[in-house]
Amino acid sequence: MNFDKHRVEPGTAVDLSAMATECIEPYADKSQAKDDLEDNVEKLADLQNLLYAESKHALLIILQAMDAGGKDGTIRHVMGGFNPQGVHVASFKVPTRREIAHDYLWRIHKHTPGRGEISIFNRSHYEDVLVVRVNNLVPPEMWSKRYDHINEFERLLADSGVTIRKFFLHISKREQKERFDARLEDPRKHWKFSSGDLKVREQWDDYMEAYETVLSKCSTSYAPWYVIPSDRRWDRNLVVSQ
Ligand code: ADP
Repeated sequence: MNFDKHRVEPGTAVDLSAMATECIEPYADKSQAKDDLEDNVEKLADLQNLLYAESKHALLIILQAMDAGGKDGTIRHVMGGFNPQGVHVASFKVPTRREIAHDYLWRIHKHTPGRGEISIFNRSHYEDVLVVRVNNLVPPEMWSKRYDHINEFERLLADSGVTIRKFFLHISKREQKERFDARLEDPRKHWKFSSGDLKVREQWDDYMEAYETVLSKCSTSYAPWYVIPSDRRWDRNLVVSQ
């Protein structure tokens, strides 16, 4: 499987509207993908053991997506095979008063993995150039400097032995609507729906633009971004696991 085709080459312009939200090849059917996913999940568990045994390196996985993009499902299905003792999942929400009193990377740095460990970020410091930019939560003079901060921050981590892999789960606006509708129809999924999601949906184009800037400015050799076609859950899981 050519996984590298999903990686954003550093410095290239990104047009998300031209990028697939469904994988066409090589998996046309779910069952083959399911077998391969199982193999990969096992391999990941073995690799985690080596990472822990050696305790020289660390792994940081960053997940970003629009609402209903599948971050939770990806963590469950792809990363569910890790030994919980060596993994830390950090979910970044609206900053608290104490967090906002500091620079925006302060709350992030504490959750980075130590040697032998894995951290998974469900949202991340990228919110500070996504939701913050789209909603003008700070002036452009402030957020526009953050791409450089972020690249340097990630370089510091990489220089300290952290392997960084960043995934944007790319869904279509139509698929998002279907998932929202499913949340509203199924009482077991109601809790996942918030009225704020609709506001974000209205800002879809602004978010796409903000994501495109992130992907083209912050995909680096030491911390690459991958754009994962995510309309179908099974091929999303397979590609991320690969
Ligand atoms: P999730 O959608 O990730 O499952 P929530 O529904 O609790 O979890 O959403 C978390 C919210 O926190 C999102 O709306 C996100 O945009 C917001 N958020 C995260 N980081 C920041 C930030 N730095 N500044 C403002 N809002 C943020």
